[in-house]
Amino acid sequence: VTRRPKILNINLFGPFGAGKGTQAELLAKKFKLAHFVAGDLLKDEMRRRTAFGREVDAIVRKGKLVPDRYIRELLVRFLDSLPKTKGMVIDGSPRNLPQKKLMDALLATYERTPIPILIDISEKESFRRLGLRRICVACAHKPIGKDLNKKDCQRCGGRLVIRFDDRPDIIKKRMSVYKKEVLPVIRSYKRSGRMYTVNGEQERADVHKDILKLLSRLGYKP
Ligand SMILES: [Zn+2]
Repeated sequence: VTRRPKILNINLFGPFGAGKGTQAELLAKKFKLAHFVAGDLLKDEMRRRTAFGREVDAIVRKGKLVPDRYIRELLVRFLDSLPKTKGMVIDGSPRNLPQKKLMDALLATYERTPIPILIDISEKESFRRLGLRRICVACAHKPIGKDLNKKDCQRCGGRLVIRFDDRPDIIKKRMSVYKKEVLPVIRSYKRSGRMYTVNGEQERADVHKDILKLLSRLGYKP
């Protein structure tokens, strides 16, 4: 009999457009998990002008990538602020093998080794979905689902345009970074036999259901 950790910790992986963020939010709600998104937390630190945020800001302003040790520091702060009984869902990290090594070690010391789940979609589908994404010029609302086909924002009536970082040339560049850096992380989890995969090429609600089924098999129920 294996002893299961009582606290649910999940790490979601998937190509752009796989819907990691949406699934993370659904899971966070269902299981009352804290949501770790490195990018959002970094932005928050910068916005609040904390000492840490100002350091990161200086790096970003120089057009440099935020070094891995800052991601580690961010995770430490997050973990320290988390009640011991609260689970977490990680969304979008680690982004490369050195980050994985660093995060695996750190999460283990907090006894929070996460269940890695890959929301799998093909490269073709990833391109297609990124090409569909829009943002409202007036209120920055990002429509999802059926609202993607509308011309105007459902919230304020503003015009919907392609997001700047969804231009084909930028998508291609991000995709090649994904292949070069994130795929090795996924392969590494697969090699150790720990990666769970769900089919991401179905309705959001069905992806969510599949993840719930998987977690239930592993002994986690909301
Ligand atoms: Zn709007």
